[in-house]
Amino acid sequence: MKRKSTSGDLFVIKPKQLNEECGVYGVYAPGEHAAKLAYFGLHALQHRGQESAGIAAANGSDLRVHRDLGLVTQVFSTKAIEDLPGHLAIGHVRYSTTGSPILENAQPIVIDWSGGRVAVAHNGNLLNTARLRSSLEKEGYVFYSTSDTEVIAVLLARHLENNSLEEAIARTMQTIEGAYSIVVATETQLAAARDPYGIRPLSLGKTASGYVVASETCALDISGASYVRDVEPGEILIIDEHGLFSFVGQEKTRQSLCMFEFIYFARPDSYLYGKTLYEVRREMGRLLAREAPVEADIVMPVPDSGTPSAIGYAEEIGIPFGEGLIKNRYVGRTFIEPTQAIRQLGIRLKLNPLRSAIRGKRVVLVDDSIVRGNTSKQIVAVMREAGAREVHMRVSSPPVTWPCFYGIDTANREELIASSTSVEEIRKFIGADSLEYLTLESLVKATGREANEFCLACLDGNYPIEVPRDVKLTKMILENGESSE
Ligand code: AMP
Ligand code: SF4
Repeated sequence: MKRKSTSGDLFVIKPKQLNEECGVYGVYAPGEHAAKLAYFGLHALQHRGQESAGIAAANGSDLRVHRDLGLVTQVFSTKAIEDLPGHLAIGHVRYSTTGSPILENAQPIVIDWSGGRVAVAHNGNLLNTARLRSSLEKEGYVFYSTSDTEVIAVLLARHLENNSLEEAIARTMQTIEGAYSIVVATETQLAAARDPYGIRPLSLGKTASGYVVASETCALDISGASYVRDVEPGEILIIDEHGLFSFVGQEKTRQSLCMFEFIYFARPDSYLYGKTLYEVRREMGRLLAREAPVEADIVMPVPDSGTPSAIGYAEEIGIPFGEGLIKNRYVGRTFIEPTQAIRQLGIRLKLNPLRSAIRGKRVVLVDDSIVRGNTSKQIVAVMREAGAREVHMRVSSPPVTWPCFYGIDTANREELIASSTSVEEIRKFIGADSLEYLTLESLVKATGREANEFCLACLDGNYPIEVPRDVKLTKMILENGESSE
């Protein structure tokens, strides 16, 4: 993308690489106020994104959108919901990424075409955005955001000029590459689609009067919907006044559901591959205890993400489980820049030690993952300051050694502590008495499925969808030493 600078020199502006780590929701419910259902659905998905929220709603003839930066409760007043009438709606929550949040990137993205409007919300990350953007720009389209969702919405709007909604989505799917679970609304129809690898989750539920689709089943529960099934990899669903229709948008490849959804991202009460994440994580803890037992007095979780596996670990090893860190549940993403003094509090903004429970104890501290290593380092220090005699760190996933290009923000390769550091060196860095990770075999075993049903790329470097060189360069130095610098 070339722009003229004020001095008259030509310079290149690289669109900011975005990590679309998000939650999507869609509802078609005749006789209901769909935006209100979407509001509660997004509430259930709030953990998947706290940077921005949005809902687009339609009533058969009109499609309106409201979106802004902030949590769902900050973005939507009663009036804002009332101003979104209609029986069908889609919604989106977007995760905080590095850099300043931009309103233009909030979703759903709405594009006008000659026959009406189309709204799109997306969870995932496209791998050929730059190429698609530049060819659309050459055709004269001026992008207003840096989000790859706008690329999807523009392609969709163009295909709608001559096609039905399902045909337009299928044609768009033939052009876009990468990980995507999308929900789409027009004035009259709701649609959902998933990439042929099924990397990001997407579930279908049924209510008394209609259907709900959502990134996680916990959002179906809050809508009073019963779980029907997952949207299949490569599948397109269309829901309208005639009912629910399924189309093959792309032939299903090998399903590669994101393992990090199991490790950390999805809520423990959501179901994936037929099991709650709570069950799976508890089993991860049990297997971790078998692989890496330790003599200690108490097992403590790093709340909340380490809790189910800490319970499993304690059960298996036969020592008590206890809380040692109390989480402030109201520290979400804040737009007020903290002062230096507050920033130095670091992890204590979120977690405060329960000194009476920790003092003099040999503690097994269980967390779901170590990414950069900073959290564990701070938490181990907090435990020691609170009087722990020994701190044994146990991690219910293998070391994260590769970056994610499919929509989860797990940092650049150079920032991943395990990409260049041995377990013993990490132990020293975080200051623990011992450190052990769950093996990949046990992680897969805890899910009750086979390794070839998952994307495990951030753990083993095998990317199920080939990542183009220019995209790789955004997050890692290549083997030949090539970097984006
Ligand atoms: P760190 O090692 O300091 O980068 O942070 C690891 C901690 O962040 C763990 O306690 C995880 O629960 C949490 N975590 C893991 N993956 C993510 C992610 N994609 N986004 C935000 N937090 C994460
Ligand atoms: Fe999930 Fe890791 Fe694959 Fe990304 S690379 S989709 S975080 S398993």
